[in-house]
Amino acid sequence: MIEAKIFMGSKTVSKGEKGERKSPYSGEVVSVFPLCGAEDAEAALKVAESAFERSRRAPLSQRIAWLRDVAKRMREQKELFAKTITDEIGKPVMFSRIEVDRCIETIDLTADALVHLRGETIPTDATPSGKRSTAFWRRVPAGVVVAITPFNFPLNLAAHKLAPALGAGCSVVLKPTPEAPATAYLFAKLFIESEYAVEDALSVVYGDAEVGSALVTSPIPRVVSFTGSVPVGNIITKSAGIKKVSLELGGNAATFVEKSADIAHAAARCAFGAFVNSGQVCISLQRIYVDAAVYDDFAEALAEETKKLKVGSPYDDDTFMGPLINDESKERAMRWVESAAKEGARVVAGGELVDGIFAPTVMADVTDDMAIVCEEVFAPIVSLVKVESFDEAARKMNDSPYGLQFSIFTNDLRMTQRALDAFECGGIVVNDVPTVRFDIQPYGGMKLSGVGREGPQFALEEFTEIQSVVIF
Ligand code: NAD
Repeated sequence: MIEAKIFMGSKTVSKGEKGERKSPYSGEVVSVFPLCGAEDAEAALKVAESAFERSRRAPLSQRIAWLRDVAKRMREQKELFAKTITDEIGKPVMFSRIEVDRCIETIDLTADALVHLRGETIPTDATPSGKRSTAFWRRVPAGVVVAITPFNFPLNLAAHKLAPALGAGCSVVLKPTPEAPATAYLFAKLFIESEYAVEDALSVVYGDAEVGSALVTSPIPRVVSFTGSVPVGNIITKSAGIKKVSLELGGNAATFVEKSADIAHAAARCAFGAFVNSGQVCISLQRIYVDAAVYDDFAEALAEETKKLKVGSPYDDDTFMGPLINDESKERAMRWVESAAKEGARVVAGGELVDGIFAPTVMADVTDDMAIVCEEVFAPIVSLVKVESFDEAARKMNDSPYGLQFSIFTNDLRMTQRALDAFECGGIVVNDVPTVRFDIQPYGGMKLSGVGREGPQFALEEFTEIQSVVIF
C-alpha cells in the first residue's frame, strides 16, 4: 500500500486526516492520501508563485535534462507504476503497462518539442505606415499553471500537462483525480527528486471539487489545464476569471462502417475501441453507424469478436477488460441498457454481470433518441444503428453536442474524402476506430468536447504566451 503525500514544492507535508482509496476490483484499501482543503490549495499556489521566477529563468538545457531524467527513472520503475494504476482504477495490467510506456514517450516527445518552441521575425516596414526595425515574437512561459486530471488515464494525462508546463518554464500545482492519488504521488516524486529539478516548481494537493475550485478561482494561476467531464468543465469556465483555460472534455465517439469496408477488420477493431478500459476512454467507440447492405454481417461479426474478450481480474496478464471505476457507473450502465431494451433495442452481446463485472455489451437496432447514443456512456456499451447512406451516417454522427473524434471504415477513397469534409470533430481516423490517439498528435475536441489542444508541441503553446518585441 502506498501513502501519497502532499508536495508543497519540494517539501512533503503530512496531514492528520487521511482518505483511503479502495480497489474497484477487490474493495481492498490500496492507497491512503491526505485530505486537503482549500487552504492547502492556496498554500501550494503561493509556493508556485514564488517558484515561477526560478522556473522561467532555468536554462532550457536543464529543463530538457529534467524531462529526460524523469522518463529514464520511470522506465526503471515501470512495474511499480503499472501495478499502482491497476490497484487504484482497476485497469487491466496489460493496459496499465501500455499507459506507462505512453507516459514515457509523452515526456520524451515534450523534451524533443522544446527545442522547436520558437518565434519568428516580423518585417515592420511591410506597410507604408510601418518603420524599419528589428522585430520578432517569441514564446515565454505563461506563469503558474493549475493541472487537474481525470481518473481514466491517471498517469499519461498528468504527463500531458506536467511535462509541457514544467518544460516550458512554468510552475505547476497538480490536483490529480481522487481515484488515483498514489499514481500521481509517485509521478510527482520523480520530478521533484530529480537532480535537474527546478526547486519548488511542482506542488501536489489532493481532493475533489473543493480543492479544485480553490485552485481554479484563485487569481494566482495564469493557466488552468483541465481534463474531465463537461459538467465540471462548465463550472471551471464560469468560475476561472481572466486566465487561459484549456479543456479536454467528454465525447461520444462514432464510426461509419461503409459497405466497401473490410468487415472482419472493422468488427475486430470496433470490439477493441468500444471496450478497452471498460469503455472509460474519452474517445471510446460508442456509436457505430452501419450501411444497411452490411449491417447484419457486421452485427454478427462484432458480437463474435466481443464474446472473445477476456473479462475478469485486472491483475491477470491476459485480461482485456476489468471492472468499472465504481458501483454508480455499473448501475448507470445497467439502467441505460435496460431502458434501451424496453424501447426496442436488442442486446446482441453482454448486457449482464460476469463475476460482478459489467460485460462488454453490443446493442443493435438502437434509435437516435436513446440515452446510450445521445449521452456519453463511459461504460462498455456500444450501439449499432442501421443507415442507408453516407449522408445519413454523417448527419447522425454530427448530431451530437460533442465533437471529439470520429472514424470511417471504407475501401473507397471518395468516401474518405467525403468524411474529411463532413465530420465535425477534432480528430478523424480512417480504417480504424476513433479510439486511436498517438501522443505526438494534436488532440482535443470541437463543440462541448473542449477548448484547446494537447500533444506535446501543441500543449507548449497553451503553457506559453506570445511576446512581441520591436527594437529600433
Ligand atoms: P470529472 O470531471 O468528474 O473529474 C475530473 C477532475 O475534476 C477530478 O480531478 C475532479 O476531482 C475535478 N473536479 C471535480 N469538481 C471540480 C470543480 N468544481 N473544480 C475543479 N475541479 C473539479 O471526470 P472523471 O470522471 O474523472 O473523468 C471522466 C471524464 O473525463 C469523461 O467525461 C471523459 O470523457 C473525460 N476525459 C476527457 C479526455 C480528453 O482528453 N478529452 C480524456 C480523459 C477523460
